Amino acid sequence: MEIDILCPMCSCIQETTSHLFLHCSKALQFWSGLLLSQHNTYLQLFTVDCVNEWFFCWPSKTGNMFTVKVWKYLPYAAVLTIWKHRNGKIFKDRPVMIHKMQLETKGLVWFWGGN
Ligand SMILES: [Zn+2]
Repeated sequence: MEIDILCPMCSCIQETTSHLFLHCSKALQFWSGLLLSQHNTYLQLFTVDCVNEWFFCWPSKTGNMFTVKVWKYLPYAAVLTIWKHRNGKIFKDRPVMIHKMQLETKGLVWFWGGN
């Protein structure tokens, strides 16, 4: 069995966790859409080297409790969504659709935030 080491999202370079979740061109497109109104947070993506660091430097928010929870959950929901779509591409040959990933992430944080 031959194992493809290229990133399944972009097929350009070797897949690593930091590439897949943070720095892949598809991941950057995904994060960019999620963080449209949070440009400084988006720019922090270019300063971190691993997912743990990304979670650690995620800024906190103030405001109503729902907003605070949704914002806090966003990076975890985003990484889970990337992982799910990466697996869908590998195991079910599903195309990577950034907009769909963004909608799923928003749905997840709303669901988690409401529970
Ligand atoms: Zn990639």
